Amino acid sequence: MAENLESVLSALAKVNDPEIGLPITDLNMVGDIALSAENLKVEIKLTVAHCPMQAEIEEAVRSALQAEFSDKKIQVVIAVMTKTELDELKLKLRGKEKTNPFGENSATRVILVGSGKGGVGKSTVTVNLAVGLARLGFQVGLVDADIFGFSVPRLMGITTKPTRIDDMMMPPIAFGVKTISIGMFLPANEPVSWRGPMLHKAIEQFLTDVYWGSLDFLIIDMPPGTGDVAISIGQLLPQAKALVVTTASTAAAEVAVRSAMAARKAGHQILGVVENMSWLIDSAGQKQFIFGSGGTQLLVDTLNEYSGEKPELLAQIPISQNLAESTESGIPLITTEIQDDALDALTELVKLVAGTKLGPGVRELRVKLNP
Ligand code: ADP
Repeated sequence: MAENLESVLSALAKVNDPEIGLPITDLNMVGDIALSAENLKVEIKLTVAHCPMQAEIEEAVRSALQAEFSDKKIQVVIAVMTKTELDELKLKLRGKEKTNPFGENSATRVILVGSGKGGVGKSTVTVNLAVGLARLGFQVGLVDADIFGFSVPRLMGITTKPTRIDDMMMPPIAFGVKTISIGMFLPANEPVSWRGPMLHKAIEQFLTDVYWGSLDFLIIDMPPGTGDVAISIGQLLPQAKALVVTTASTAAAEVAVRSAMAARKAGHQILGVVENMSWLIDSAGQKQFIFGSGGTQLLVDTLNEYSGEKPELLAQIPISQNLAESTESGIPLITTEIQDDALDALTELVKLVAGTKLGPGVRELRVKLNP
């Protein structure tokens, strides 16, 4: 019998909690097990009552058991952890102290995606970058730090809220990316009108109260410009590197310079520049440079001159109807196999960023400026 109970547990060990990403057997989620010649009854203890993942977990448990014990009638009973059990789980996941896991000695590569102004495609680039990295097999977290203008939940098609374990939050996972946004906590159309300290608190909580597990990359969708959030991020994520998104227009590039210099001032290395909406292919197959073509070079040159870091142009993403539509559908373009130049450019960008090392050393990242 002991051996059979062990085989029940090893079947259950194949089931990961969808939010925490660890086997349910390691999370003390398995309760009573009753095994007889015909029946197998297993109690699964969820972290919260009415857990949004209940149906998913129940189904995963049932099929894992059915695969091993096809001759038995399987019964899965759902229960909820007691306060003591929850405290034990929290301790196991986070340890005693609540700390920011992305401080000085963190092994996570933190990439800030910023822009001078809104509407240049910063969030679109951010989600495709995060999802693209996850598709390469990296553990990826995504923080929507654009508190006033959050759009990440929509772009990622996320409608669920984080599950709370006391003061710890389990971030929803979409396309393999653990994601958190203020938009998950607000009623629809509720504006955010906070001052600096509230913004700082929100960002701090995103970093410390969310269970991130161990991440290879943390991607941050920064608010446009150079405000309070950028300063907080500078303090909280000292080793982050910044990616600056701009269109090719000189006006956009000029404001992007200010945002890049603010990142620099906060101590962040500039990883590189992404030019978005670079051109449109017209019906004759010709490139039309709708937003001009001099701005990005100006941005790169100015950054070289002032930062001394020689940040380079990493990608030029053309205007693409598929990309625009993907932000409406909530399915990032990078998850598709569509024939599209914007998708190709994003894929190349993901590969470059995947090669980012901890600490300085990104000079080798380079693409040639198109004409
Ligand atoms: P930001 O975060 O800079 O405010 P968004 O990522 O929200 O900008 O993009 C603004 C709008 O532009 C969205 O509707 C998005 O679909 C669209 N967009 C972004 N990049 C492209 C592109 N390369 N081609 C076509 N539409 C784009």
